[in-house]
Amino acid sequence: MTIVDGIVLKERTVGEHDKFVDILTRDSGVVEAVVRGVKKINSKTASSSQLFAYSRFCLQSRGKYIYINSAEPVHIFYKLRNSLSKVSLACYFSDVVRYCVQENTDSENVLRLLLNTLYFLENDRRGEAMLKSIFEVRFMAETGFMPDILACHRCGRFEPEELFIGTSDGVFYCKDCFSGESENFMKVNAGVLSAIRHIVFSEFEKLYNFRVSERTQKSLSDFSERYILSRTERSFRTLDFYKSLITSKGNLI
Ligand SMILES: [Zn+2]
Repeated sequence: MTIVDGIVLKERTVGEHDKFVDILTRDSGVVEAVVRGVKKINSKTASSSQLFAYSRFCLQSRGKYIYINSAEPVHIFYKLRNSLSKVSLACYFSDVVRYCVQENTDSENVLRLLLNTLYFLENDRRGEAMLKSIFEVRFMAETGFMPDILACHRCGRFEPEELFIGTSDGVFYCKDCFSGESENFMKVNAGVLSAIRHIVFSEFEKLYNFRVSERTQKSLSDFSERYILSRTERSFRTLDFYKSLITSKGNLI
């Protein structure tokens, strides 16, 4: 029997009584586990194993499956459900984690990033566009794809006013060093560069403590989304759905 802390990223019912859940754990990456007799189990275990529940799970391996014997809720993120766009954005974050984080990897920082981001999202502590960018950029940095944003890739200038940043490799060139047009680079200002630096390098305690202008946020959103999609080499249906909601609200991100 093992005790693990983790958050439910996805749940799917199997047959009439059981469900599978994917859990992002602190120490063991994403783990798939079975909840038996969903309709009969006590309500505490039922609520602790629902989508976005952060809980302490008691797991047991039997045969080729891992079973949840019981679970205690730590934080359920109930309030996310009051907003379709928030719950959709959270589903996109879950999808990214499920796709990128393997079983048996140290996942403490990713767990911390996801929990903190959902907490800020649930409580309206930061706007959705900002939280989405923070999650996308920091998640990539935490999983080995840190953008190389220390200095101009050619001349080493630290703080150019205008620069061109690569949406596939995350390197940047100052205006003087950038040669020619390329669809894999976008032109951004110094504000976007310092926002990306903050997201990549700051301690978790300070990660959400910055603000940017609306214009800078637009560029940052554009960069962070293109970067994660290019690095993961795929699309996410949950992201497409979220964007369709945001666009129909007339609220471009
Ligand atoms: Zn340069």
